[in-house]
Amino acid sequence: MGILDEDVAAVRAASDIVAIISQYTPLRRVGRRWEGNCPFHNERTPSFKVNSEEGLYICYGCKISGDVITFVREKEQLDFVGAVEWLAAKANMVLHYTDRMEGEGRKRRARLVEAMNRAVDWYHERLLSGADAGAARRYLRERGLDGDVVRDFKIGWAPDAWDEACKALRLNADDARDTGLGFVNKRNRLQDSFRARVLFPIFDPQ
Ligand code: ZN
Repeated sequence: MGILDEDVAAVRAASDIVAIISQYTPLRRVGRRWEGNCPFHNERTPSFKVNSEEGLYICYGCKISGDVITFVREKEQLDFVGAVEWLAAKANMVLHYTDRMEGEGRKRRARLVEAMNRAVDWYHERLLSGADAGAARRYLRERGLDGDVVRDFKIGWAPDAWDEACKALRLNADDARDTGLGFVNKRNRLQDSFRARVLFPIFDPQ
């Protein structure tokens, strides 16, 4: 379940980022900014800066940055909702949550991400071991893309067999369309977007 956007904004506005961060590392005022030793890495000279007007922090040593919510997420090991709840409790604020439709949307997105991951794995496996992928493997070898590159980038091969792919990926028409893996053609049949092609996935849900 999500928290209403306006409540998130209100919590962010009500939270004093300098006071919160000071609970983890002492900050001192330098001009209009605050600085101190970074609470995320060990250091002797302070490279951690806080801009209280904008509500942002950045460390020039370990290159992390964010706002009061990301700070609490990192330090308290919470997810986004948990971090907002943590801050709201400190500020004595009551939160309102989004309705079930929103929850359904999140669930759907998670399902699509999972479908994409499955597709990347399945096409990749097909390239590595499919009897019909010999030409694709040769194509990659001839271009100097060796086994390590193929594995690191999870390069795949989409066979000329959509029904099989559909079944393996457990895709219905909606999911196929929304992931871009397939579409419904003029004859109202589910059709794959990548038939008989080498695939270079750029999708990275992490
Ligand atoms: Zn740092």
